[in-house]
Amino acid sequence: MPVRLDRLLTLWLFQPLRRSVWKTGGFRLPVLMYHSVSDESEAGVPPYYRTSTSPRAFAGHMALLRAHGFQTVSLKTGLRMLRGEDAAREKSVVLTFDDGFRDFRTAAFPVLRQYGFNATVFLTTAFVGQKPDRFKMRECLTWGDVRELQQAGMEFGSHTVNHSMLVDLAWKDVEKEVRVSKAEIEQHLGERVISFAYPYAFPSLRTDFVGRLGRLLRETGYECCVTTDIGSASAASDAFAIPRLPVNGDDDVNLLEAKLDGGYDWMAAPQRLFKTLKQWRRFRGGINPSGN
Ligand SMILES: [Zn+2]
Repeated sequence: MPVRLDRLLTLWLFQPLRRSVWKTGGFRLPVLMYHSVSDESEAGVPPYYRTSTSPRAFAGHMALLRAHGFQTVSLKTGLRMLRGEDAAREKSVVLTFDDGFRDFRTAAFPVLRQYGFNATVFLTTAFVGQKPDRFKMRECLTWGDVRELQQAGMEFGSHTVNHSMLVDLAWKDVEKEVRVSKAEIEQHLGERVISFAYPYAFPSLRTDFVGRLGRLLRETGYECCVTTDIGSASAASDAFAIPRLPVNGDDDVNLLEAKLDGGYDWMAAPQRLFKTLKQWRRFRGGINPSGN
């Protein structure tokens, strides 16, 4: 098994340090980011980038949450806690699932129901139909599935219409992705959609774009945007750039425990450094990093 540096540093350096030296105060809300819950092999993909969690590993994760006294809260409730509108309860966690894969219903939901947990699923609406469609070779939820899951207490948010790289689109197309997906989910579910999950890596260094997107989301009636930026959410988080903790089948109980505890938040710094280097390379390569 290859050495996984983020795991190694988390478990042997940052988590012990955080526990002993950096005891930080204030309410911290871990928002876990899952994608697919399936036995699909992702051989060849580095563990950090995998998006599949086996049903067995997922059941282990949920058992860990229960054993450690965690209670899931919807993103809506989590937001209220962060804003101070609801009493912040320690050991609260938000579970999110990106892309709207059908295995959420067949593999994740039965486990969630067993524990009385809830989750927020982000739908890419072009792939949600009356019959199962496919996205990234995986089957997606249908509107019938979505309605049933809604009745069972699951929450839904937008993950755009086409899962486009928004930062590379003309602004009128960004608007379309943001507005049309929201309207379509609301039409099918009969309730307001307040959350948005940014597809692909969040362009946090492109502050103009991020600011403009946040204003657009707010104007459209969203109340938050979750991202791929690593970290726990706190009262200081921008509601339109909420960090999450990526989770997949390679997270054993120790790593997941550290992530829930804030022991993985240090990864925000190397992630930012990586983005800076990537942007610098793009710039040097003659591509205008400000895009359109
Ligand atoms: Zn996605």
